[in-house]
Amino acid sequence: MEKYLSQLNDAQLAPTLQKDGPMIVIAGAGSGKTRVLTFRIAYLMSQGVDPFNILALTFTNKAAREMKGRIAEIVGQSEAKNLWMGTFHSVFAKILRIEADRLGYPSNFTIYDTQDSDRLISSIIKEMGLDKDIYKYKQVRSRISSYKNSLITVKAYYNNPELMESDAAARRPKMGEIYKEYVERCFKAGAMDFDDLLLKTNELLTRFPDVLAKYQDRFRYILVDEYQDTNHSQYLIVRALSDRFQNICVVGDDAQSIYAFRGANINNILNFQRDYDNVKVFRLEQNYRSTKNIVNAANSVIDKNQTKLDKVVWTANDEGPKIKVHRSMTDGDEGRFVASTIFEEKMQNQLHNKDFAVLYRTNAQSRAIEDALRKRDIPYRIYGGLSFYQRKEIKDVLSYLRLIINPADEEALKRIINFPARGIGQTTIDRLIVAASAYDKPIFDVLKDIDNLNVNINGGTRNKLKNFVTMIESFQVMNQNANAFELAEHVVKVSGLIKEFNKDGTPEGVAKMENIEELLNGMGDFVEGQKEIADSTASLAEFLEDVALATDLDADKGNPDHVALMTIHLAKGLEFPHVFIVGMEEDLFPSAMSMNTRSELEEERRLFYVALTRAEQQAYLTYTVSRYRWGKLIDAEPSRFIEEIDEQYLDNITPIQEQRFNPMLDASIFGDIEPNKIRFAKPKSPKFKKKEERKTPENFQISSPKKMKPISKTNGGSNLFDSKLTVGNIVNHQRFGRGEVLKIEGAGGDLKAEIKFSNGAVKKLLLRFAKLEII
Ligand code: ATP
Ligand code: MG
Repeated sequence: MEKYLSQLNDAQLAPTLQKDGPMIVIAGAGSGKTRVLTFRIAYLMSQGVDPFNILALTFTNKAAREMKGRIAEIVGQSEAKNLWMGTFHSVFAKILRIEADRLGYPSNFTIYDTQDSDRLISSIIKEMGLDKDIYKYKQVRSRISSYKNSLITVKAYYNNPELMESDAAARRPKMGEIYKEYVERCFKAGAMDFDDLLLKTNELLTRFPDVLAKYQDRFRYILVDEYQDTNHSQYLIVRALSDRFQNICVVGDDAQSIYAFRGANINNILNFQRDYDNVKVFRLEQNYRSTKNIVNAANSVIDKNQTKLDKVVWTANDEGPKIKVHRSMTDGDEGRFVASTIFEEKMQNQLHNKDFAVLYRTNAQSRAIEDALRKRDIPYRIYGGLSFYQRKEIKDVLSYLRLIINPADEEALKRIINFPARGIGQTTIDRLIVAASAYDKPIFDVLKDIDNLNVNINGGTRNKLKNFVTMIESFQVMNQNANAFELAEHVVKVSGLIKEFNKDGTPEGVAKMENIEELLNGMGDFVEGQKEIADSTASLAEFLEDVALATDLDADKGNPDHVALMTIHLAKGLEFPHVFIVGMEEDLFPSAMSMNTRSELEEERRLFYVALTRAEQQAYLTYTVSRYRWGKLIDAEPSRFIEEIDEQYLDNITPIQEQRFNPMLDASIFGDIEPNKIRFAKPKSPKFKKKEERKTPENFQISSPKKMKPISKTNGGSNLFDSKLTVGNIVNHQRFGRGEVLKIEGAGGDLKAEIKFSNGAVKKLLLRFAKLEII
């Protein structure tokens, strides 16, 4: 253990060795918060704490796995195995299964993912005859989600006139009814959605003191990473569980709170000291991840936020290269810039694909980057977006499996009752839903008992329904003896799924088959992996739970050496040697939807801080002059966040011919006009007629550039100054006008000229970028 502790600095050692009592580590990005948590767990174990008594909550399951791996290196594999580690959702799903009967749920309850919730909500909106343009299912879902995360149950909703009024004011007076129906349907289907996993845990811990006591006794040491992004529901769970022993250690950074839009409450971190007695507060200041340039640039940006805790972040790492700022004409050009830079960097510096990450504000931005990477044959992987387990063919297979485990699962049943087609039409399904509601039974029970119930379905269809029931029941019998893999293999054959996907022979069909094969392989691995774990039966139920809670970061498949593409939200806690932050444009980042209030804008700025601090060596900020959005080519302006970075940390690498109409970079970064005096001039919108013309920046011309003969020129990709300029030369500057060269200093790319312009101003210009013409 000693040997390992020497891998921490003094500031990190203090919280690591603080064994008991409530404590909080508040520190900036890359300062070792996650590392402290990891070492602290190992230390607790070395001090005789039983791993069964330790609960560690992380932001992703991947983070939990990595942490566990690291702990296993220190304390040994067999001990580390017994730790309770994972996301809030995965840990509490396990507990809910154990205690399900208390809440009237079956222990084999299904976990509805967002897609399932959306489908159920859409169907309820339709059944209630509501206008789907007013009751947009996604908005309804997010509203229900926010109720649940604030612990507002249906009953609490109806006791709260303000809530009802606000929904009515938003032209959705039926929200309460939808909410009620949704909750009842989930319950009847034996299903919990993601928010339920937290809401029901809270219900469990408040309604059953013996259950609370049991888990308080079990989790004597609780640790939470990324505490700044916990929501109210998560906060209450942590409070309740830690109440007895008060051995609670949370780590976080208020400057990285980026999930307010999903209910995260930054006050959880700010008020921690009020919630517990004798809280020990630790601060870490040294960043080990990034270069000085990156750390300082990030500090200079986050400084603009008013709501923040005062924090120091510094690093002993090298200065490193400046942050490169690049401007392109279109998003296609931006993609090509990213791909060619990765290509060149790899060649020149012996780097791997996995040393690069491309981060963006919205998922839609990935397409242009993907296209460009594909053209260059650079392997990449998109994280987030539609996860593997949400692809249609995979969900089809999983729905069969879910129905085997939990026949009440309404969404699974509706999905596969007529897939592959067995002549059971939508009218039949609608009638079944009505009957299920009338008899207050799950649809599957109605099917089983259809001959004894009053359901308006003819004989031929009845037989088809009975065959379906028989098939599912035969799978259920098999499930009692076979493992998950054997069962799944059987199901895809017997259900007709394989035949269905194989029949067209199109590339899409083949890809679907490959995905199904991949799923089966995954199940095979799972069965093998579970053999090691003592209390596991490698059951299908366990597999389905893992799948339901897999965040996309978890499914690391395929070539491990790939460029990572993901949204900034998903990149939290991660690090990469080279990071591109693309789409640095107003209305995109900061997002147009987050500029109405100061607090929204500050959240966007924190998001930018998170993005920038993922980079270890080199960060790139790229933006475009025009971008396809909502099917149109629209003008774009550089993001205010670029301007907010202290200019000394930036390096404009836009090639000369593209810079010509870039007043922002020219003036604020390399000239000496105060940045806040700069107004972004809207670049003239390129009105291209032909698609080919849009391809290269070279064929983009404005305001007779021939007249300007820049003395800077590009040289093999890096801008070098051709030093014909001498003291006494009279020059013309594109914007400042005529002037006399007073002094020349620096060398190579840093060559600067001090010029006195005719209006009296003396400016120092970096010749690499200045557009000068000798007269
Ligand atoms: P974030 O705020 O982004 O979550 P963090 O505070 O959790 O960051 P870590 O991820 O724990 O920071 O650490 C950042 C990097 O610095 C990691 O690569 C980690 O291994 C390294 N590191 C942290 N502390 C030390 C140390 N004392 N010596 C060497 N490397 C360290
Ligand atoms: Mg961390």
